[in-house]
Amino acid sequence: MGLPYTVILTGGIASGKTTVSRLFAALGIVIIDSDELAREVVAPGEPALAAIVKRFGSGILDSDGALDRPRLRAIVFADSNARADLERITHPAIRQLMRTRLTAAESPYTILAIPLLAETGGRREADRVLVVDCPEELQLRRLMARDGSSEPQARAILAAQASREQRLALADDVIVNDGELAPLRDAVAELHARYLQLASAKRDASI
Ligand code: ATP
Repeated sequence: MGLPYTVILTGGIASGKTTVSRLFAALGIVIIDSDELAREVVAPGEPALAAIVKRFGSGILDSDGALDRPRLRAIVFADSNARADLERITHPAIRQLMRTRLTAAESPYTILAIPLLAETGGRREADRVLVVDCPEELQLRRLMARDGSSEPQARAILAAQASREQRLALADDVIVNDGELAPLRDAVAELHARYLQLASAKRDASI
């Protein structure tokens, strides 16, 4: 059986990806989150964790034997070879788990949340890309309100991400999340109807 109709959901930090995902989930759609998969493949007992220990030494584990993520992040931030090695270990494992989850998903179409799509090479083999968009000033305000970041901290986080334009260039569909929750729910319902149609057309074409 092929992969189900897949919609990648992406957007900048604090744009509203989680809020939008929950609205699709409430309509019965399975959401697969690439950040969650990335954590799962390096859990204790996973082959990718053993490979990371082999490459970076057992000092990369915390006292419970789990991956010391802040430490690993600091190492790969400072060393591009280390980053490439880490990606060679984790990316195939993540891709494989993603395919397994997509194939198992009992959903008329599936949403694959990839927050850093624009930063990590753009479009993948998905049927559609949905970008959650909002003005940067609003992202800043949400970041400061939610995480208690100062304005300079929040601006630095935004500056390290892809720009709004880079993300929008990847979009088939855009949800502008700059207002209340009610219009957001309407926008999700409209896209949901369209995705149901597209998914069913793809199924018919493959029979
Ligand atoms: P991150 O990239 O950090 O995971 P995200 O893109 O998943 O963030 P959310 O967590 O959905 O974004 O939203 C960021 C914050 O803004 C949350 O506190 C959320 O409740 C709030 N928020 C999002 N959309 C709206 C909206 N339309 N109205 C009011 N608050 C909102």
